[in-house]
Amino acid sequence: YEALRVADPAIFQALELEVQRQRHHLELIASENYASRPVMQAMGSHFTNKYAEGYPGRRYYGGCVNVDTVEDLARTRAKQLFGAEHANVQPHSGAQANMAVYFSILKPGDTVLGLDLAHGGHLTHGHPLNSSGILYKFVGYHVDRETEKVDMDEVRRLAQEHKPKLIVVGASAYSRTFDFPAFRAIADEVGALMMVDMAHIAGLVATGHHPSPVPFADFVTTTTHKTLRGPRGGLVLCKERFAKDLDRALFPGVQGGPLMHVVAAKAVALGEALKPEFKAYQEQVVRNAAALAKALTSKGWRVVSGGTDNHLMLVDVFQQGILGNEAEQTLDKAGITVNKNGIPFDPNPPLKPSGIRIGSPAITTRGMKEPEMERIAGWIDLALRFRAEEASTARIRQEVFEQTGLFPIPE
Ligand code: PLP
Repeated sequence: YEALRVADPAIFQALELEVQRQRHHLELIASENYASRPVMQAMGSHFTNKYAEGYPGRRYYGGCVNVDTVEDLARTRAKQLFGAEHANVQPHSGAQANMAVYFSILKPGDTVLGLDLAHGGHLTHGHPLNSSGILYKFVGYHVDRETEKVDMDEVRRLAQEHKPKLIVVGASAYSRTFDFPAFRAIADEVGALMMVDMAHIAGLVATGHHPSPVPFADFVTTTTHKTLRGPRGGLVLCKERFAKDLDRALFPGVQGGPLMHVVAAKAVALGEALKPEFKAYQEQVVRNAAALAKALTSKGWRVVSGGTDNHLMLVDVFQQGILGNEAEQTLDKAGITVNKNGIPFDPNPPLKPSGIRIGSPAITTRGMKEPEMERIAGWIDLALRFRAEEASTARIRQEVFEQTGLFPIPE
């Protein structure tokens, strides 16, 4: 970063501090990961200079020969990785990917079924302040109070009652496997289309560690930066019959020029995801999450739904008298980064919720395995139990510092 250091010391210093933070904190935010050096190189490249409105072979600008190569490769790799008929790699984010699908098939006022936000759904699945909630009539389904797993009987009942045009499946804070064939059957019963937002689980889907939604859904959206471990961005897969409408809804419908440096980085990440090492990585992501959930449970912490099938879990810290925001702050002082999160049927408000969300993708990228998960669960347990004792927090911070030193991040 020599040129940046000289040209802009303020930004350089913030970057230095951020790299230090990423090196020496335990990153347990379930939606984050460390992109590889090749992915970061593609992102920080000359492709950022290029305008390329349109699609390969049909651009509104000259000079697109090289970006066409890149976008074609990204699309081909996405289709190959997920077995999809059509891919659009231009969404700037997961939110844009979802918006493009809605824009391609819905009219304002149409009814959509989605997982209630308080039960794990995402902002773009109908939050009243998000364009999804402003433009469309979202009806929320829920998890069952006992099992804390999606209540498919309720999904069917709500679908029959509301006759939605679209059923959205997917979540930001749900640790169990989605039953895509069951959702498809319900969609068919009521004549609805089906979209799966696999943002969180895309990496697991790519390697068979979560069943694939692609054979069942009309549209599949994802971010590229979570378990998929690419650059920040989005991606849409769909059946060929929706391809034209989707592409038009994305550009010029909701976006202008694509971020070609990010598209290049997506191509690199998708190429990485096609390699056998990526399968081994996802295997370890799932093992690590299971090991963390087991260790925390054995120390007396309640994991929502009793465990995890994927890369994340929700821990009900309020059951031990701590609010999620207090737990987040306490763990941060110990060098452990998590986020506060509501739990299903939460008696507390969103900014002072009952839970924290913990994920294994980032620490697994660093090479940590089951023995490290045991230690991490031990630190979380001690940090939260002895949160009033500064010396205890400082000791954990030191141990975290030492462990993170042994597992370098990609740089
Ligand atoms: N969909 C789901 C399920 C998500 O969890 C997220 C991000 O957290 C998104 C969509 C939105 O992605 P982005 O932040 O890139 O807009």
